[in-house]
Amino acid sequence: MVLGKQGAGKGTQCVRLARHYAVPHISTGDMFRAAVRSGSEFGAKARKFMDAGDLVPDDVVIGLVRERLSQDDARLRGFVLDGFPRTVQQAEALDEMLAPHGGVELVVDLEVPTEVVLKRLASRRVCVECGTNYSVERPPEDPETCDICGGKVVQREDDTESAIRRRLELYEEQTAPLIAWYLAKDKLVTVDGVGEPDRVTTRLIRAIDRRLRRGPDG
Ligand code: AMP
Repeated sequence: MVLGKQGAGKGTQCVRLARHYAVPHISTGDMFRAAVRSGSEFGAKARKFMDAGDLVPDDVVIGLVRERLSQDDARLRGFVLDGFPRTVQQAEALDEMLAPHGGVELVVDLEVPTEVVLKRLASRRVCVECGTNYSVERPPEDPETCDICGGKVVQREDDTESAIRRRLELYEEQTAPLIAWYLAKDKLVTVDGVGEPDRVTTRLIRAIDRRLRRGPDG
């Protein structure tokens, strides 16, 4: 599981980690954005919270994740979890879901200072189809078309100044306490998320492999 502020590079890095470890990438943000695009009633409800930069209520997110983690690919191969849990209640629910499978294996805190994430969020662009992230500095070849799937590349609707401020506030209030929670359980590894994306990926894989080799008893 990867924790980190909005704009820390979680999305980009989780896609790479999932590819590297050959496991599914499960992103609650991507799941909600897919629901919004599908035009479902569920998506319309989620959108109200997302556009304001608020968290979708715990019971809704927990239900969604429970269902996704019960699917064969996640059950059999494991997964990279991106954007969940974001509250203590969600972390408790996840513990309960994973208890029969030995609990959460490892939590990575991708650390990036707030000044850096503010800059990144303002320049972030995303493919509406596959969720690939770009930026003003690193656009796709055709600035409005995704290199990977040909989808339209846009600025996220919740990347407005007020929604960004709200999301960072909620991160500090609700999600940052999870860092201490997983540290106390000896599940946490902290990785510096500043720098070129390729270098951050290398750092992540090294830190994860080192920890997983160490095994559950140190
Ligand atoms: P993200 O792409 O992870 O930044 O998520 C985008 C938005 O989806 C968030 O600002 C929330 O509104 C909603 N969301 C995603 N994951 C969660 C979660 N675990 N708990 C509550 N809301 C979430």
